[in-house]
Amino acid sequence: MNYSRTVAGNIGILALQGDVSEHIKAFERAGQELGLQGEIRPVKSPNDLTGLAGLAIPGGESTTISKLIIKTGLFESICRFKGGIFATCAGMVIIATDPGDPRIVSLGLIGMKIERNAFGSQKDSFEADINVKGLDFPYHAIFIRAPVAIECDNGVEVISQIGRGIVAVRSGKHMALAFHPELSNDTRIHRIFLENILDL
Ligand code: GLN
Repeated sequence: MNYSRTVAGNIGILALQGDVSEHIKAFERAGQELGLQGEIRPVKSPNDLTGLAGLAIPGGESTTISKLIIKTGLFESICRFKGGIFATCAGMVIIATDPGDPRIVSLGLIGMKIERNAFGSQKDSFEADINVKGLDFPYHAIFIRAPVAIECDNGVEVISQIGRGIVAVRSGKHMALAFHPELSNDTRIHRIFLENILDL
């Protein structure tokens, strides 16, 4: 659970629903590759956010995660969180200013309009080698009932797109990805996130 360089780099993984352990493993690997020191911990309540430089919001069901972050009191704490957020799949829906579904109370931290399940249902899940700005060779991305962004505000940098669907963005310290980077055996995107939030 610990990695080892003297940079304060504690990372939390929102652990209300979704594949938390894969996210922990991916951040452990990325941290080791960068030679970092810090703790990676599941986040289930507002206190767990203390001392974190970054928070990953995993995939899952965005309508459910949205309800759970309100119920646990995490909604306000995440809105006030000063670190970077690594929002993946359902996380990308929840972090958007317009989540594209009135049932979702979104965090509103990245100015973009989302189309949920943009590629179809579970059986239409797919894998693709995508170009991502900042990476020198394609990234093998796994899409599971993935959303896309269809519009982004100024100041949101689109770093990957499939046709008209925006599948990866950066906005200040935050990143949002329509796919599941924790399932690819490739930590390059995690490393971009860590380098950005820790000023490496
Ligand atoms: N389709 C889901 C949603 O919008 C996201 C799927 C996922 O996170 N793998 O909630």
